[in-house]
Amino acid sequence: MGTPESLRQVIDIVKKSSREMRVIAVVVSAMSGATNELIKMAHLAGKKDIAYKKILGELKRRHVDTVKTLIRRRGQKGALAHVDELLRHLESIVVGVYRLRELSPAGLDYIMSFGERLSARTLADALAERGVRCEYLNARHIIVTDDRSGKAAVDFQKTDAAIRGHFRKHKALQIVTGFIGATPDGQTTTLGRGGSDYSAAIVGAALGASSIEIWTDVSGIMTADPRLVPGAKVVPELAFEEAGELAYFGAKVLHPKTILPAMRKGVPVKVLNTFKPEDKGTTIVANFAQRRKKSHNVEALTFKSPVAAVHINSPEFFDGNGFIARIFEIFDTHRTSIDVVTTSVASVSVTVEDEKNLPQILKELRKLGDVSVERGKAIICAVGGGVNAAGVAGRMFTVLGENKIAVEMISQESSGVSMTFVVEEKDAKKALKVLHKEYIEK
Ligand code: ASP
Ligand code: MG
Repeated sequence: MGTPESLRQVIDIVKKSSREMRVIAVVVSAMSGATNELIKMAHLAGKKDIAYKKILGELKRRHVDTVKTLIRRRGQKGALAHVDELLRHLESIVVGVYRLRELSPAGLDYIMSFGERLSARTLADALAERGVRCEYLNARHIIVTDDRSGKAAVDFQKTDAAIRGHFRKHKALQIVTGFIGATPDGQTTTLGRGGSDYSAAIVGAALGASSIEIWTDVSGIMTADPRLVPGAKVVPELAFEEAGELAYFGAKVLHPKTILPAMRKGVPVKVLNTFKPEDKGTTIVANFAQRRKKSHNVEALTFKSPVAAVHINSPEFFDGNGFIARIFEIFDTHRTSIDVVTTSVASVSVTVEDEKNLPQILKELRKLGDVSVERGKAIICAVGGGVNAAGVAGRMFTVLGENKIAVEMISQESSGVSMTFVVEEKDAKKALKVLHKEYIEK
């Protein structure tokens, strides 16, 4: 949803798809960059910096221009009125923030929601002008979340019921705002940056759709980030487990949570390119068992950095007695997720990406034993059904060794979907390159 031209592409895709199958819902993100601008603007206003006005002015201009280039005839007036109404509403909120000199997390979520509200409104108006029967839908009415601003958790029971209830009554194509939801008492929330993919999966899964398509700006999930590994190529097919692992460990194409609802209901997810709609993209399906039998290879690589490694040593650990549970509980209470975990008889090491609450966490961990922290690390994740097959790991660490890359904290989960390990951040790109060469380019 970048420019009027890309919106035209979206319209073509929706029209073409609607001829081939029944499209129930189109979930959209904000126009590209809009969410960042909204965040910047909100923070400026919260600091009583009048510079927020400039950003607001640009946002206004961009959305009004988009309507004017996209909708030229009778629909224009109505579409402009819609955008104008939203922009006025946004302005009144931001002025409030400016006057109070205070931006709450909930306020920021509310301000961010305008990105998707504007883009979905405009797409709905543009489609309507081109004769597509459709309705705008603010996802506040169908996605029910808790109140964790910025990364709200979805209540699937309530959400699925709300989605089914809504779609039972509304038979026209729904143009839905991605990224946003609301608490049961009506406070607007957001699902985490890049969350529109997730919204689409939530809606598709709740309705038992035959497929969920994520239209983005690349031709699918790649074997590695092509900016780092020039030989990277599109992976045609992945199992849910593999795609989930890749998204979680840093592949930017999909929001990490996207896979979950689709996997639960077994709805295939396709990742396709808005600008090259004929490309085949990546299809993510429930075929892990078959893939595991066939493939004994690494299919894709990704990495996450910087992360911090936290090591906890305690003689108490010898006794067991819920020591690990206590460690996990501390991270959980501070809402900090752990990525890689390794243990030995008297120690536990974990990695964390979000260091916001680390000082308090460390304080509590120190009551359990000796604690040390190493920063500037990277997690490399190699994904592929069957990476636990004989010899795969051996080859991996041989290649890394030959390239003088030291490996720490190796972890391989037992079903053989992925192998993760930690290296120094400075070695991460090289590790990715040499492993890609070994497993994928060879
Ligand atoms: N507009 C939101 C963001 O920029 C959600 C999305 O793009 O999927 O994070
Ligand atoms: Mg996206």
